[in-house]
Amino acid sequence: MKRAKLSKHETKEKIQKFFIEIKNKTPKEIKKIKKISKNQKVPLKENKKLFCKDCLTPFKGNEKIRIKKDYKTIKCAICEKLKRIYLSKKLQTA
Ligand SMILES: [Zn+2]
Repeated sequence: MKRAKLSKHETKEKIQKFFIEIKNKTPKEIKKIKKISKNQKVPLKENKKLFCKDCLTPFKGNEKIRIKKDYKTIKCAICEKLKRIYLSKKLQTA
C-alpha cells in the first residue's frame, strides 16, 4: 500500500504547528520540514526567520541582534553566521 501523501492544506497545517514550537526543534527536524515544504511547494516564508539557514538551529532569543535602518542582523549562537532580516516598510509606516 502506498503511503498517503499529505495534501497541500495538510502540509501547511503541519508546517504551522511545527513553527509554533520551533524553539524545541532540532536541526534534523528543521531539515525534514524544509524538505517537506520543498516537495509540497509550500513556502516557509516568514518562518525562515526563525532558524539559522546555515546550521538549521532554531533561534532561541539569546542571539546577538543588531538593528540597522532597513534590516536587522541576527548572529547565530552556534555557527556565528549572520542572518540579515529586512524590515518590512509597510509595517514601519503603518
Ligand atoms: Zn547557525
